[in-house]
Amino acid sequence: MNRFSLILFGPPGSGKGTQAKLLRQRLGWPHISTGDMLREHVQSRDELGLQIADVMQSGKLVPDHLVNRLVELRISQPDCERGFILDGYPRTVPQAGMLEKLLAAKGFEPVVVFLEVDYNRIVARLAGRRLCPQCGALYSLASNAPVISKVCDYDGAPLIVREDDREEVIRERLTAYERQTRPLLDYFQHGGYLFFAVDASDGAPQAIASQIEELIPVTAEARFVPAAGSGSE
Ligand code: AMP
Repeated sequence: MNRFSLILFGPPGSGKGTQAKLLRQRLGWPHISTGDMLREHVQSRDELGLQIADVMQSGKLVPDHLVNRLVELRISQPDCERGFILDGYPRTVPQAGMLEKLLAAKGFEPVVVFLEVDYNRIVARLAGRRLCPQCGALYSLASNAPVISKVCDYDGAPLIVREDDREEVIRERLTAYERQTRPLLDYFQHGGYLFFAVDASDGAPQAIASQIEELIPVTAEARFVPAAGSGSE
């Protein structure tokens, strides 16, 4: 059985989180978002959380060794055996190097999907993004607004703006992307990876998810259809 690690790659606001959630339902693989994992640590105010809170609030990247450790532990969990979806990782060349070794040792083949989005659209998307603090559902005021304004469709919780979706932090996040993450494009394209670019500027999220699903040469046995109600991550 071929085992894949799907790496969703792209700037902040390119729809990685939305696609990861849709593809988790389709493929049954866990969605691993380093941003979500790090935010959980900040919220629980544990040792790691206190260490990284300021960096995250500023929109800069958390040091590689801390993120690498989290990912290494997470992908060693049994639910990752058939495959998993990485959202927001790797984000630097050293992170990609460490992941490459880890995947080779565990027998996973990486598939990189680059979500291409126009710069102006990214800024508009990030500024219009809303999050349900209870279930993690993401909304976009422009293209995927909640049925009732400011309230989550699934659990009725009041929606929030993520702390790092404020305008000045958005600029810092995009700078971090340009400086530290964008160079990975070259790394992926010339490093022998299965690499695909998908136009994610327009189009319904479900249609983009279908396009991505078709790109992964996954066999039926590597899919896992989660039982209803499970798989929240
Ligand atoms: P995200 O939710 O993916 O946009 O990530 C939010 C924030 O978490 C980023 O602005 C960084 O501060 C931090 N972060 C998430 N993933 C990584 C990563 N792979 N490397 C370093 N910092 C990260």
